[in-house]
This record gives sequence, C-alpha cells and structure tokens, in this order.
Amino acid sequence: MSMRLGLARMPKKGEEYDVVIVGGGPAGLSAAIYTSRFLLSTLVVAEQIGGQLNLTDYVDDYPGLKKIQASALIRSFKAHAAMFNPRILELVRVTKIEPDNSKPYPRYRVRGTRGLDVYAKTVIMAVGSKRRKLGVPGEREFAGRGVSYCSVCDAPFFRGSKAVAVVGGGDAAFEGALMLSGYAQKVYLIHRRNQFRAKPFFVEEAKKRDNIEFVLNSIVIEIKGDKKVRSVVVKNKVTGEVKELEVDGVFIEIGFEPPKEWFQEIGLETDEYGYIKVDEWMRTNLPGVFAAGDCTSMWRGFRQVVTASAMGAVAAYSAYNYLAERGLYEPKPLALKKAGLSH
Ligand code: NAP
Repeated sequence: MSMRLGLARMPKKGEEYDVVIVGGGPAGLSAAIYTSRFLLSTLVVAEQIGGQLNLTDYVDDYPGLKKIQASALIRSFKAHAAMFNPRILELVRVTKIEPDNSKPYPRYRVRGTRGLDVYAKTVIMAVGSKRRKLGVPGEREFAGRGVSYCSVCDAPFFRGSKAVAVVGGGDAAFEGALMLSGYAQKVYLIHRRNQFRAKPFFVEEAKKRDNIEFVLNSIVIEIKGDKKVRSVVVKNKVTGEVKELEVDGVFIEIGFEPPKEWFQEIGLETDEYGYIKVDEWMRTNLPGVFAAGDCTSMWRGFRQVVTASAMGAVAAYSAYNYLAERGLYEPKPLALKKAGLSH
C-alpha cells in the first residue's frame, strides 16, 4: 500500500477538484475515503494529519478497535484514505475560500500556504477547533515553561515532579490527570464546578488515585513563576477563599473553540458558539460547501472520533449528491482505475 501522505506534490495553480476537504482529522479523512469511493477527484489539505487525535493517548471507544494508541489510529486512518488515492497535502493551511464565477457552474477558489491556489466544485470544511485559553495573568508568559495545553503530549516531562495542576472537568482534563498521576507525585484537578463533563469511568478512576486531589468550585486567577511555573493561584467561587498551590506545571484542558471569525469571513453561518451551522446532511448555508466534525454545530458536546467520522462520511455523500444532481460529476477513467474499478 502506498503511503504518499505528506509527500504529495503541490497541485498546479488553478487545478480544479470535485471536492477539496479542508482538514485531516477523523472527519476529513473519513470524508476523503468516501469521496474517493464516489470517484470524486479529491484534494485533502491538512495542517496536521490526525487533528485532535494527536492530543490523545489512546482510544477505547471506536467500534471494532477495543483499545488502540491514538497514534496508531491516525496511521490507520492515513493508510485507509491513501488506499483510495485522494491527493493529501500535509503542513498546508488553507487561508482563503471565496466564490469563483468564471465558469458556468458554481465553484470556489481555495488558497493557502505553500502557494496553494486551486478550484473546488465542492468544499468540505473539517477544520476542527482550537484550544481554549484561560486568559489569566501568567498563562501566556509561562506557555511552554510549565503551562501546557496537552497533558498527554507533555506529561512525561513532569516525571518525578512534586506537584502539577490540571484545569478542567472534561475528558481531556481527566485523561490528563490520570496520566500525570503516574509521573508527578501529586496532581491537583482544578474545576470551576463540582460536577464533571468527563465520562463517569474517568471520574471514578481518578477518585481511586491517592495522589489526585480535587479542587472544585474553583477558578484559576493567576499562574506565577520565575523562569518557569512555580505556583497557581485559585479562588473558590463559593467561599471566596484564595489559595496558592505550589506546582511545576499547569495543564489547561478546558476544551476547544472554533475559528469563528474565519468562518464568518468565508460567509459561513455559525451558531451562537461560533460553530458552522449544518443540517442533518452536513450542508452549510453556502451552496456546495459542507462541514463535518468538531467545527460544526452538529452533536456539540459529544465530540468523538466515531461522530466525526460519521459526519465526514455524510458530508462526502452530500457533496457527491450535490454534484450528481447538477450534472457536474463524471467518473474519469483515471479515478476508476485508482479506485480499483477498471483496468
Ligand atoms: P470539554 O468536554 O468541552 O470540557 C471542557 C471543560 O473545561 C469543562 O469541564 C468546562 O467546564 C471547562 N471549562 C471551559 N471553559 C473554561 C474556562 N474558561 N475556565 C475554566 N474551565 C473551563 O473539552 P475536552 O475535555 O477538551 O474534550 C473535548 C472533546 O474531546 C469531548 O467531546 C471529549 O469527550 C473528547 N475527548 C475524549 C477523550 C477520550 O474519550 N479518551 C479524551 C479527550 C477528549 P464546565 O463543565 O463548567 O463547562
């Protein structure tokens, strides 16, 4: 099987694709599998293959795979997509998507870094979302010097550390706290409420660990240090008590937010939280533009590999239908050959 990902040459300026998929996480790669199987000429543009899977340790809730390292699952997604030969560009960021009226049919001009400048009859937005920040003093100053946004990536750097703090009450915070409890002597889990979004399984597991201390109903008001983080200042929202916890690291795991301004610049309608509004067929307000995965309003609050993959598949099907209904789709002999359907 060819693993051409990342090595694909840049498309020629002005080249046209049936579909350009923006994003290379589970949603984007799943969409690529399906659009390629529908024989649509497909270009995937990804800043990083794997998306948020790169920030996870292992996955044990994807049907058919009992427990798999996230990195292995990314490789598997890559290999599966590559099997159907879409063109996949890595380390390229799409910066501009705008309507192009130079043809009798609607299409979009898609531009990006490394000189990307192509046309798309349809676009599937699968760009995920970006990490939310606390916005407290010290956060920016100590980023990379004790402040981290990825526990599972950076936990090993805190081996033997006296204490670290994890902020958040979702799966990422709990997964991080559990992992860190194997490296640091003590882990404070700081959460603004006393109820958790995290799966009960994670919560029960964390409660069993002697070295995880819950600091609840509390918010971080400052991160202090010198050359690196030395402490985190927290305030109890109920009692008003302020205390300073000595820590070597602060892991901020408070979720994600979408690049709302960029979506609006493209003309995409967003919901109140800034996610791209989609209907049940992953259609956006723009003709020929579909969206899938964490960047959408669909199933917000339940962001899973399986839901992202499902959305990618549906978006691909909708792109195919959109083109077929308008007579804009004809399987080219090369596409048939690549998909193993002719000789
Ligand atoms: P999340 O589920 O959105 O949880 C974010 C947490 O941060 C919430 O507890 C939230 O508090 C808190 N928070 C948000 N803004 C805050 C702020 N400004 N200050 C303080 N706290 C704040 O995000 P996530 O944990 O990163 O997970 C994202 C998605 O990935 C989820 O769908 C999750 O299931 C998935 N995921 C799965 C796994 C796994 O299954 N192995 C691992 C990681 C992530 P409130 O609860 O008060 O809103």
